[in-house]
Amino acid sequence: MSTFVVVGGDAAGMSAASKAKRDDPDLDVVVFEKGEWVSYGACGLPYYIKGEIQTLEELVSVTPEQFRQKRDIDLRTGHEVVDIDPDDRVVTARSEGGETRQSYDHLLIATGAAAVVPPIDGVDIEGVYTLGSMTDGKELREFVARSREESPVEQPDRGPACHFLESCEGAVGIVGGGYIGVEMAEALAANDFEVHLFQRGDRVLKTFSDATSESVAEHLREQDVALYLGSEVEGFEGDGTVEAVRTAEKRIEVGMALLGTGVRPRTALAEDAGIELGPTGAIETDAYRRTNRPDVYAAGDCAEAEHVVTGKPVYVPLALTANRHGRAIGQTIAGNPTEGGGVAGTAAVKAFEIEAARTGLLDHDIARDAGFDPVTETIEAKSRAGYYPEGGTVGVTLTADRRSNRVLGGSLVSGYGEGAVHRSHALVGAVTERITVGELSNYDLAYAPPFNTTWDPILTAAKVLG
Ligand code: FAD
Repeated sequence: MSTFVVVGGDAAGMSAASKAKRDDPDLDVVVFEKGEWVSYGACGLPYYIKGEIQTLEELVSVTPEQFRQKRDIDLRTGHEVVDIDPDDRVVTARSEGGETRQSYDHLLIATGAAAVVPPIDGVDIEGVYTLGSMTDGKELREFVARSREESPVEQPDRGPACHFLESCEGAVGIVGGGYIGVEMAEALAANDFEVHLFQRGDRVLKTFSDATSESVAEHLREQDVALYLGSEVEGFEGDGTVEAVRTAEKRIEVGMALLGTGVRPRTALAEDAGIELGPTGAIETDAYRRTNRPDVYAAGDCAEAEHVVTGKPVYVPLALTANRHGRAIGQTIAGNPTEGGGVAGTAAVKAFEIEAARTGLLDHDIARDAGFDPVTETIEAKSRAGYYPEGGTVGVTLTADRRSNRVLGGSLVSGYGEGAVHRSHALVGAVTERITVGELSNYDLAYAPPFNTTWDPILTAAKVLG
């Protein structure tokens, strides 16, 4: 009987463990997870903190007991793997009970990513948070509950500074305008905090198109988020707990600060074992997610993947890739070699009352580096038939290669529920299948007045660009 050992019990790790065991019930599957939570949806944490989801348990798709009892997986929570010996094919894990050595025939490293903590003044002051784990989520929700209790709001009056909760403790600073920063702006504003969002660059959601970023920025401001673009946070001040966020130009008093400054792949364990990293700094793998060491795989937020447009390695730490690559590895180990597929960098975000999505290549410099001659058009069109009640607009940005007319990428923004995100799926197909703008404009998309116009905004954008 052969043994499959997994390090890390979330999306990539548990997908691989479950699939391998299902396809080959004779396989011994052992999973080491350093924390207590497995198979959790960190993506739901902003909505848990907001209060739309009541318990952390609701974010868990399969419990440890279910993995052990129903799926026959030897899941060891509270076990941190501290060493991998690829020559002897042994891992060493540490737990409260001491050290365990476990031999393997196949090994998956699925250690995920850690929130980046920038080296600035005061990051270790109490009240400066990150949001990367279930524990972080719990602490932030407790902070929200505590603040609301201490400073209840009878009638939030949307006036000047410190207007939501009744003191400056009700002001929060978010550092970073990526998707976690934007989602948390919504979660905290919904709890009556005055939100200050600092973004070093000149736009939020910088992997989306300029037009999408501008729409999101405008909407954040409409929702009373104080947005500081081109504003680099230099540090936090506070005597015991955080009291202010400081930039070169400003000092804003806050009762809490959240770092949404990106994530970094957790690679130390792999590096110590002689496993190579790629140019992105994440673990390098081939199409089967194999590393440079025999029978050692890596997947999810600790690993890189190849971009479907450029074919080059990229680091896009998102949930579907982790699940998909984990599942493919499980299949491979069970005897059916399966490629996990590339990534298009497809992402979606909700910001208060709007939604946005992006896929493929949008950045002209990156497109040029990959040998393309990029051209971009942005259109705005109605989201539903003009005569149909409700509806709004959809902004579509399309980027194509001028020489081949191939669709390289797209970015969309609409009101929440007006279809930017679901529409982006047609673009993912076009980008992945190397479709030209002309072919895209002939896609036979569905039409009915409650959903779109006869020429869906995607088709209109393709016609304008074609
Ligand atoms: P992780 O989920 O990071 O899991 C890795 C696990 O390995 C952890 O449980 C860790 O404790 C364990 N581990 C690490 N080192 C060791 C060790 N040495 N020994 C034992 N165990 C170890 N993605 C999306 O696609 N859409 C979203 O909307 C979205 N929203 C998000 C919102 C938030 C707030 C966060 C934090 C993430 C979000 N993501 C989203 C990203 C998504 O959660 C990740 O891409 C996904 O969880 C990656 O899964 P993973 O298994 O690779 O890594």
